[in-house]
Amino acid sequence: MARFPAWVFGGGPTISTASDHAQSGWPSIFKRDRYQCIYCSRGFSHDLHELLGSTTDHIVPQSLFGNPREANHPNNLAASCAVCNNLKGNYRPPEGDPAWSTRGSLVQKAREHIAAARARKLIVYRRHLADADMKPTPDCHAMESVSSDDN
Ligand SMILES: [Zn+2]
Repeated sequence: MARFPAWVFGGGPTISTASDHAQSGWPSIFKRDRYQCIYCSRGFSHDLHELLGSTTDHIVPQSLFGNPREANHPNNLAASCAVCNNLKGNYRPPEGDPAWSTRGSLVQKAREHIAAARARKLIVYRRHLADADMKPTPDCHAMESVSSDDN
């Protein structure tokens, strides 16, 4: 039995064809994902800074694959901002979790993990700012409302 569900390798309901595998470079991944972070929906098409900070995330972490080529199937790749990719890290749900059943449910589970990690970072960030006698930026308040909306 395969270690990962078939969707990771293009089996079952697919979002791309096997012929896309040869073109799994970031332009085709970003085109499919509409130049938006799959986790937070931040857009990359309007701002070079955002584009340069974008990454191609492995939905199932690359470190879990014996063969790196298998990790690079387009179904397992997604446009991601660097912040979400960093907060996600090597996250994956426990074996047997229903989130493994589809790409969409695994992405949703990762979004929840990222939101929780973001909320924890915000607490630390606010404490460091207070220690430095600095007030949080307006962006920091926006971050907080995003985090609390997700919880
Ligand atoms: Zn993001």
